[in-house]
Amino acid sequence: MSRYVGRFAPSPTGPLHAGSLVAALASWLDARAHAGAWLVRIEDVDTPRTIPGADQTILHQLASCGLYPDAPPTWQSQRTSLYQRALTQLQADGMVYPCTCSRKDITDAWAALGEQRPRNSDLIYPGTCRNAAHVKSPFAWRVRTEQPHRSTSITWTDRRLGSQSQDVETAVGDFVVQRADACFTYQLAMVVDDAEQSISHIVRGEDLADNTARQIWLQGCLNVPTQKYLHTPLVVGPNGEKLSKQNGATALDSSQPLHALNDAALVLGLSSAQGSVAEALLAWTQQWPFSKA
Ligand code: GLU
Ligand code: ZN
Repeated sequence: MSRYVGRFAPSPTGPLHAGSLVAALASWLDARAHAGAWLVRIEDVDTPRTIPGADQTILHQLASCGLYPDAPPTWQSQRTSLYQRALTQLQADGMVYPCTCSRKDITDAWAALGEQRPRNSDLIYPGTCRNAAHVKSPFAWRVRTEQPHRSTSITWTDRRLGSQSQDVETAVGDFVVQRADACFTYQLAMVVDDAEQSISHIVRGEDLADNTARQIWLQGCLNVPTQKYLHTPLVVGPNGEKLSKQNGATALDSSQPLHALNDAALVLGLSSAQGSVAEALLAWTQQWPFSKA
């Protein structure tokens, strides 16, 4: 096996909560169990959603839990020239096109086709601007899923969830790689960074599993290698919904790191640990259940 390089890639839209610590702990343990390196990447590419200072809070919370990265953390906001280079490559290859559609334009286009599509964050793009002769400014860049020699039918194996498949063209449609406000999207930035940082294994929350097929497909467009994936169980709140910053999950209490780590370990099926944070991390590394893949 080539060298194991893992990462934890939080978006600084708020402090870590019990759900995000599960992904952080799992990615750290997986790297340790493989004698690999563990990196931290602050995903602040969506500048309007970035909360000033949240990056430092997250790094402090990780440190209080004994989760230190093996190299200095990176910030996506300082790496936009890499994303621009990838976009330029997609433009040169004719794989992207400008699009001015708003969310309403997209639902209207589906209605005109006689189909009602749900108004949610996963609105499938109907391809309206694919062959448009001219578009107004400002516009987003969408990647063209309909390509003659590149299938959008993606299958991949998750180390916990098993075999997965998705047809990106029908399930997602042409997706945005640079928004009209010039922000590069998570999908593009993540694929570029995972390749540039030689990430071999991705360990993250199950809520992101649905993004995997489009990311693997985009890796093919950019001609970069793919990773091994492990999606960790989500933490649900009292209302049965997954914990997220959006539904008001409370920040981790950095003064009680062993308590927070024990909660995260239980979600991962590890037994609760006593003693110091360092002793707990060592014990869990030794019983880590996903060490083979
Ligand atoms: N930045 C993403 C998030 O916090 C995670 C990205 C990833 O692990 O691929 O939801
Ligand atoms: Zn459009």
